[in-house]
Amino acid sequence: MNLIRRRHLRWTILLCAVAAAAGASPAAASGPQRRVEREAVAVKAPQPKPIDYDKITQEATDLLSKYIQINTTNPPGNELDAAKFLKDKFLADGIPATTWEPLPGRGIVAARLHGIGKHRKALLLLSHMDVVPADPKDWKVPPFSGEVKDGVIWGRGAIDDKGPAVVFLMSMLAIKRAGILLDRDIVFVATGDEEEGGRNGAGWFVEHQPSVFSDVGYVLNEGGGIRSEPNDHKTYYSVSVTEKTPLWVRITASGPSGHASAPPAETAVTKLVAALQRIVEYRSPIRIIGPVEDEYHAKAELSHGPKQWLDLISSLKDPAYLKQFVSEPQQNADVRDTITPTVLQASNKTNVISATASAELDCRLLPGSDPKAMLHTINKLIDNKDLKTEVILNFPPVSSPQKSELMSALQTLARHLDKGAPVVPTMSIGFTDSHYFRQKDITAYGFVPIQITPEEARGIHGANERISVEELGAGIRRMVDLLKIFGGR
Ligand SMILES: [Zn+2]
Repeated sequence: MNLIRRRHLRWTILLCAVAAAAGASPAAASGPQRRVEREAVAVKAPQPKPIDYDKITQEATDLLSKYIQINTTNPPGNELDAAKFLKDKFLADGIPATTWEPLPGRGIVAARLHGIGKHRKALLLLSHMDVVPADPKDWKVPPFSGEVKDGVIWGRGAIDDKGPAVVFLMSMLAIKRAGILLDRDIVFVATGDEEEGGRNGAGWFVEHQPSVFSDVGYVLNEGGGIRSEPNDHKTYYSVSVTEKTPLWVRITASGPSGHASAPPAETAVTKLVAALQRIVEYRSPIRIIGPVEDEYHAKAELSHGPKQWLDLISSLKDPAYLKQFVSEPQQNADVRDTITPTVLQASNKTNVISATASAELDCRLLPGSDPKAMLHTINKLIDNKDLKTEVILNFPPVSSPQKSELMSALQTLARHLDKGAPVVPTMSIGFTDSHYFRQKDITAYGFVPIQITPEEARGIHGANERISVEELGAGIRRMVDLLKIFGGR
């Protein structure tokens, strides 16, 4: 606790010192005093310098390569070195930054680019430093080499989520170096532990460091981006406004133990297997929420899908089309709650009947579905008093509004840069750290302004994850433009 207080104090001092050095008002200034200082800044502010994007892209490439080389495979995560690495990059450019260590070796970093509009809500750019494991034998290059070859940066985390962090970080550096004054603060936060649920990362951060984001009104995080089909230039901006929520359930069965040469009619394992059979045969009702309907409609309009997607609700009333539609797993997950048995445990010896057996279910619920109702359904399907259920993980479904100042800024960006590409509020079937901020009533969108192809998307949590140098540079350019639009005066 003391450690946390000391760090908070240091953060506050650091912010004030840098703000004072930059001639900006400290965060606590208010009323007429602030107006005077704002005018003084406006008079003194020199014309912004042009941004050399070739140089910025080169620097970003080098930064991402080195960031990938810091192995933050979770478990165990060990994000502290990565947090210090990012902090040093900000400090070298005079942007105040600090790190925290929620558990030994785990890390979080935050940095703040001060704007001059203290009444406007700050924008927080969120990413996670931890990555999922990578088996080198499946890869064309060593996954933690950060190799740059033929215009491509290779390695675990290139897209999920180190590349986006570099886009966020370099855009803040580019704005600062060019002398562009924004009318709101931009806060960079990179957390750990996202791939294991985020409790020791973003979850810890929102509970223990509220002063860092007390003025934040908006969050941009992973979960969406610029989408297109192969060999098709028509794109759309997928902005994730909501996510399916996890309901993880453990089922434990009990029964007689003994030697497998004389088996009783029922054992823990046979009871568990019978229950699981009923669970996997169960199909939850079809339900199409607004963002899902909108995304399929947008894809059909861009000719990225069949005409049935123009009105998905009506189309799925046709049993033949419904059968075809849900045969594709991603599409099935978009329109119903799913239940997937994953972990199984029982005896570890072939000839021993274990007294207990357990299974874990990964249920994913649509926004609006009631976790208690799903648990009730599972218990009814099990229908056996020798089997007990317990919830391992669940959090409330939360969505962000589809209309906001930030959504308008994204629409302006799409109009300017991508020939008026539609900006579509969507639902992610996976969950990210956005829910921690949505639970604090902050508007959080899944959107990183990079365009990834379906082929590149397969590298996320798969083999040969990579991003092209060109797209990394384009992402920074779009991000700078977005910050200028959203922080424009
Ligand atoms: Zn991620």
